[in-house]
Amino acid sequence: MTIMKVTYKAAAKINLMLDILTRLDNGYHSLFMLMQSVGLYDTVSVEKAEGDEITITCSQDKIPCDRSNIAYKAAVAFFKATDIEPCGLNIHIEKDIPFAAGMAGGSADGAAVIAALNDIFETDLSNQQLCGIGVKVGADVPFCLTGGTMLAQNIGEILSPLPPLEDCYIVLAKPDRGVSTKEAYGAFDTAVNIRHLDTCGMLYAASEGNFEGICKRCKNVFEQLIEVPERVPIKSILNRHGALCACMSGSGPTVYGIFDDESKAQAAVSNLKSICKNSYITKPVTTGLERI
Ligand code: ATP
Repeated sequence: MTIMKVTYKAAAKINLMLDILTRLDNGYHSLFMLMQSVGLYDTVSVEKAEGDEITITCSQDKIPCDRSNIAYKAAVAFFKATDIEPCGLNIHIEKDIPFAAGMAGGSADGAAVIAALNDIFETDLSNQQLCGIGVKVGADVPFCLTGGTMLAQNIGEILSPLPPLEDCYIVLAKPDRGVSTKEAYGAFDTAVNIRHLDTCGMLYAASEGNFEGICKRCKNVFEQLIEVPERVPIKSILNRHGALCACMSGSGPTVYGIFDDESKAQAAVSNLKSICKNSYITKPVTTGLERI
């Protein structure tokens, strides 16, 4: 039976570590990132439609539903890579991942579209082949197609699996004002005296599954480079409630705290709501996509 409609839950990510090793000649940056999928999801439905239009709808009205949407670009990239005659699609995004947050919400949607089209057209592509399509759409898409706990290198597309992060509670706080990713990388290019992070120590701790060792090293080089509103008070609330670490994700502005105790995490969220209404409690998950 031909499948006409497929729905995926697509997970957000946080960066347990993010360091920039250098700027590449092509303008991109060589990165060292420890990525972690978290249980906060967009729900993306992809349905075959009459005609040849790709129509995007989204529950969040601030997201562009035109050709600039990452889901649109992902569909185009899929048709191009597989040589399948492009057809009409209705793509609906139920957005629960905060956008422009440093949590790869757009990349998660792109990953869901690629996986859904692989199902609909029964192309049976491997994860590696799907990632090859994904990287053309965005550097975080391969991670979102895979998920779990990963070392991501180069521009983010070279992925090495790590042992799953121990079960814990992750509190996310996203300040209202966004940060431009382009400006954040620009700040690296002009910065002097960057203190690089303990990447070797982090990799050693992560590959040993040493939870305390990981938490001790959660750091993001962008915190030295860009001003993020409310970053300091958010961190101080997280720390006051017993977070094992408090760190910014991606190029911000989301700040997360890791807790080993649910009641402490809940108390932190209640307290954070006064300065940051977009505060959530979530958990690490081991996959980026889940078909529902
Ligand atoms: P990253 O952590 O990968 O840097 P991010 O969380 O900072 O990602 P996104 O939520 O992916 O950022 O979106 C950044 C911008 O991309 C948004 O402001 C929006 O205009 C545009 N965009 C295009 N398509 C989408 C989509 N499907 N979901 C969210 N944003 C999208």
